Amino acid sequence: MKYKSTRGGSEPKDFEEVLLSGLAKDGGLFIPSAFPKLSLAEVNNLGSLTYEQLAVRIISLYTGNLFSNEELKVLVEKSYSRFTDEKRSPLIKLSDNHFMLELFHGPTLAFKDFAMQVISRMFDFILEKNKRKISIITATSGDTGSAAVEAFKYSERANLFVLYPYKRISELQRKQMTTVGSSNTKIFAVKGTFDDCQAIVKNLFKDIELRKDVNLAGVNSINWARILIQIVYYFSAYLQIPRDKNNINFSVPTGNFGDAYAGYVAKKMGLPIDKIIIATNQNDILDRIIQTGEYFKGKVYKTNSPSMDIQIASNFERLLFEILGQNPNELVRLMNRLEANNGFTINSYLRNSLEKDFASGSLSDIETIKTINDYYRERKVLLCPHSAIGVKVAEESIGPNSITVSLATAHPGKFKDTVERAISEPIQLPKNLSEVVEKKEIYKVIPPDINLIAGEIRKYF
Ligand SMILES: *Cc1c(COP(=O)(O)O)cnc(C)c1O
Repeated sequence: MKYKSTRGGSEPKDFEEVLLSGLAKDGGLFIPSAFPKLSLAEVNNLGSLTYEQLAVRIISLYTGNLFSNEELKVLVEKSYSRFTDEKRSPLIKLSDNHFMLELFHGPTLAFKDFAMQVISRMFDFILEKNKRKISIITATSGDTGSAAVEAFKYSERANLFVLYPYKRISELQRKQMTTVGSSNTKIFAVKGTFDDCQAIVKNLFKDIELRKDVNLAGVNSINWARILIQIVYYFSAYLQIPRDKNNINFSVPTGNFGDAYAGYVAKKMGLPIDKIIIATNQNDILDRIIQTGEYFKGKVYKTNSPSMDIQIASNFERLLFEILGQNPNELVRLMNRLEANNGFTINSYLRNSLEKDFASGSLSDIETIKTINDYYRERKVLLCPHSAIGVKVAEESIGPNSITVSLATAHPGKFKDTVERAISEPIQLPKNLSEVVEKKEIYKVIPPDINLIAGEIRKYF
């Protein structure tokens, strides 16, 4: 399997290089030269596999000869050994045609653990083989940071630098990152938004000299490996649905469009998905492009679902490339317009191709609170604010004859204050969270200054 850049300026690359570099040198994102296809019979045959076996089956389609089957098996089994549910991503029933896929049983209680636990072990495997060290830089809207800190804490060949937007993530999200106290990790609270943090990371990658000097690598959701690992649970969800499995929808709480894009790839691979429903908060740029064809950056609003407080959905570039018939020149034209004019409008042909695979909706903070309360009162299901958005937008789009799976992206305890406000009752924190409350925090508040951060990365290499 070879990979190319969405912007057309990269030689074909192997999985190893794609994993290590994150972003292509031309500024584009890597995508596989083709999506391997499974027939419906082949998909249904996967039903008897454990989650780990399923993961090995799917991931190995994309990793070329980097790992032997046995090596990948060991790596994946270690990755999920700290998950507290033996199904890893259990499917629960909300109503006859609405299910919820719980993706929060990993060590930091958000879906980011699925990919990060595997990625850190893939990095270690390669670095050990090549006797190299690397510097990993990542921007986080909350959950990527803690998942990365937790996944890389024992890595001897990786330094990890995390940028998060100061005062724009929940207190427990912050504490999960800042209390791990691993010597290979530095946490920076950047005075700005998530988009500012993401822009710094992108610009650090454009600094070719720095990239070479410190072996810069990225684990943001623009890294293809994260997308790949997340494809697995779409298959797992489908295989757990008890009946009538044709043309199911997935509702996905969306920020950077990584998770939703993984669902799209699952569909391309042959999973019988009808629509991916993009569910956003007030930061609704993706809902707007689906509804109106307009993709214009707005101001970033601070909401009660902070992991989705994003205006520039980086992974959307991968989908655009696809609907543009994989034409890199057209893609670069749109990306330049995004930079110069703050956005672009797509024509009706492109809109139709989006509507074939996607639906969308958005939810305000007030509706999110109401949804959390309603689900708690009526069904005794406690939702985190992000998951509530997915569930509610799904409800509004479900027809009587379709089945929808809503992704529950984080444990409600991670957003304790919002959830308690919604249901007017105290909630119990799971052990992983109650433990961090009292621990000492280590992080540094800094201005959005790229040179300062580059200096820190050099200092520790
Ligand atoms: C990261 C995150 C999202 C958004 O996922 P994307 O892949 O960025 O679209 C949604 N919910 C939670 C809880 C998250 O941590």
